Amino acid sequence: MALQWSEIVDAVNQVVLSNSQDRWRWTNDGSGCFSVASARETIDAVCLPSDDSVVKWSSLAPIKLNVLAWKIAVNGLPIRWNLARRGFDIPSIACVVCEKGGESIDHLFFGCSFVTDLVTGVAKWNASIFSSEKPKKSMCWDSVVSYSFLWIRSRCKNLCLRWDIWLLDPNLAISVM
Ligand SMILES: [Zn+2]
Repeated sequence: MALQWSEIVDAVNQVVLSNSQDRWRWTNDGSGCFSVASARETIDAVCLPSDDSVVKWSSLAPIKLNVLAWKIAVNGLPIRWNLARRGFDIPSIACVVCEKGGESIDHLFFGCSFVTDLVTGVAKWNASIFSSEKPKKSMCWDSVVSYSFLWIRSRCKNLCLRWDIWLLDPNLAISVM
């Protein structure tokens, strides 16, 4: 106890008070003055992951694609999984497109049936462009039908579209609900 008391006395004796008025001092910046930039740096130092990986930007791709690739790499997209993890109160973490998995980066970009269908469609389209065969009308029509179904279902949450009715008649599928 006596040792602690003497340590406190020693610490207090080292404090030199000036005759100036009391004032607030921002200690996270050498100037002692608060700035938004300094606050931002302080928050980033605590919150941002300290990943030493180097981001390589492709000069051939548009900037928005570079940013998207970077956000995917650092799992920084505001998707349902990440929002729930950060404490946002959201009704569901299910994939907004297929509703068959959690809306995570892995699912959305690599596992979602919509994405795999899309990649397959693009691959078929590329094959038709670069091959000697002409593209089939039926392939294009199938894409229009499936993507319009997924697009409307993901945009209109209050609608309960049924795929089987959509295939018969989209107007009927919308009016049945
Ligand atoms: Zn999905």
